[in-house]
Amino acid sequence: MTHAHLDHSGYGPALVRDYDCDFYATPPTVDISEVLLKDFLSLIPEDEERPYSHREITALRKKERSIRFRIPTELDGGWEIIPFNAGHVLGSVMLYFRSPSGHTILYTGDLNTSNTRTLRGADVNLPEVEYLIIESTYGGNEDIHPSRKKVERKFVEDIKATIEEGGVTIIPAFALGRAQEVILTLIHFMESGFLPEVPIFIDGMIREVSKFYTMYWSWLRPELQRRIRESKQGLFDHKAIEEVRSRDEILELSEPFIVVTTSGMLQGGPILTYLKYYGVDSRNMIYLTGYQVKGTRGRMLLDGIREIPMPDGTTINIRAKIGFADFSAHADQPNLINFISKLRGVKEVILVHGEPDKMIQLRQKLAKRKIPAYIPELGETIYL
Ligand SMILES: [Zn+2]
Ligand SMILES: [Zn+2]
Repeated sequence: MTHAHLDHSGYGPALVRDYDCDFYATPPTVDISEVLLKDFLSLIPEDEERPYSHREITALRKKERSIRFRIPTELDGGWEIIPFNAGHVLGSVMLYFRSPSGHTILYTGDLNTSNTRTLRGADVNLPEVEYLIIESTYGGNEDIHPSRKKVERKFVEDIKATIEEGGVTIIPAFALGRAQEVILTLIHFMESGFLPEVPIFIDGMIREVSKFYTMYWSWLRPELQRRIRESKQGLFDHKAIEEVRSRDEILELSEPFIVVTTSGMLQGGPILTYLKYYGVDSRNMIYLTGYQVKGTRGRMLLDGIREIPMPDGTTINIRAKIGFADFSAHADQPNLINFISKLRGVKEVILVHGEPDKMIQLRQKLAKRKIPAYIPELGETIYL
């Protein structure tokens, strides 16, 4: 398992149960995926079938084989795996496979080649690879991320203006990765004096996942490790940060504040409560922080729709300002091409984890560089 996000870990317990196999992952991935999988299971309605039980999630631990960056592990049958830093979220890896006859495959999982506040960008110093299976979330021709510096600047300027108007800023964020980047950005600009110090409330699954960033501080980027050691303080120990104990108390506050909460695409979780109370006031701001899938409330807001349907069948009319900050944890098209071009020995690239038109665009760009790329059908078996 490359990392704990549910689009990668969600079927893990069923696989380990059905195949009675070992479970290779880094310690942060094992611990965080357990929390996310249990949360996922609790969201399935009572009368719907579950892919596995709570007990089968816990049983993953019995099959756990810990892996660490750059340390080779022998598998049954003479195969070897070497995990490399993928730079995507805490504990994320790319997996390098070497067959008994010496053939090699690199599966990137999700990949970020740029440094972020929490992590070093993905490893580029890799051994020769024959077959590369790579994600292509941002593989389209339009996909060029602005620099993180610019993104952060605009983000905090907008929030500053909202605070000065007396408004509340609601930040929906994915619990693993995005939320921690957002919180550290807010702390940084409060410490530098740019942002007024207002309370930052942390709600939903983010609270639980952030604890793993404190626990696994040695997996963070070296600059951050040094800061933690020098300050002798936890990553999120800041006087402005407050865990939400009672949502009702926050809803009664009259002064400006910031909430960082789940879910990132506004499909469920505490964000819906905040949306109902604060989304209707034009002084307030809703700041989206990542990719919004078509059909989600987040995507509707991004596309300019203001009549937003709620799960209980009602509709709310959003008057709050809508912001978007591209705190992406995926490489964009130029960085994907750059990453692929730097690899030695590549015979074929297999594109996965992308929208079909974006994958086609990336394949065309690679073809111009004489790098053959293949886009498999869902469920297709490929013989190398
Ligand atoms: Zn991911
Ligand atoms: Zn993914």
